[in-house]
Amino acid sequence: MTTITQNIETVRAEIARHARTAGRDPAAIRLVAVSKTRPAEDIASARDAGQSDFGENYLQEALPKIAALDGRGIRWHFIGRVQSNKTRELAMHFDWVQTVDRERIALRLCEQRPPDLPPLNICLQVNIDREPQKAGIDPDDVAGVAHAVSALPRLRLRGLMAIPAATEDHARQRDSFLRLRALHDRLVDSGIPLDTLSMGMSGDLRAAIDAGSTMVRVGTAIFGQRG
Ligand SMILES: *Cc1c(COP(=O)(O)O)cnc(C)c1O
Repeated sequence: MTTITQNIETVRAEIARHARTAGRDPAAIRLVAVSKTRPAEDIASARDAGQSDFGENYLQEALPKIAALDGRGIRWHFIGRVQSNKTRELAMHFDWVQTVDRERIALRLCEQRPPDLPPLNICLQVNIDREPQKAGIDPDDVAGVAHAVSALPRLRLRGLMAIPAATEDHARQRDSFLRLRALHDRLVDSGIPLDTLSMGMSGDLRAAIDAGSTMVRVGTAIFGQRG
């Protein structure tokens, strides 16, 4: 077995363990393998181990990998900062864009999504801890953006994504994630049919799953430290 295969099994087992501890069904948590800076061969190894969802942060880096792995049945998630002059290629080559942080970007993705493809899956990125240097919508503004984006025909608004303030403290990690979940639940109550809470990375998986994550984005624990 390759290291990547072993790491994926370890991460899947960890997700299942945290889910059961939290009284949740492990099948309700999707693993996105974050392959930024990794070559296409590493992604192919992970794909051979049954991994289907991959996350990329940089469009120029991702495009050749997507081309090289065409036909392998991979779902590609864009999880980097969206520049408005790059939306056309995102709309053409990705299945999910998890980092939409303004309505204008969503409008462009909607207009540019090719008609022969299914609607593009969208998460709104929320700046859940209101960090000045971080991307994402202010929690107070999420409902307005969500209502606008949910009305766009070529997009399917799936949920919310966040990268909380860095801390190793479990209680503080969990507190941030619970606030994202509360926002998600309020939107669902208001009639927007969301099904995705994209939260949790290598360092805060347990807190995220505890707080209700349905999608974790894991890089280091699968592919090793980035150089
Ligand atoms: C890099 C990255 C991850 C993965 O982080 P790890 O700590 O390597 O698991 C997850 N989400 C986003 C948005 C990232 O940029």
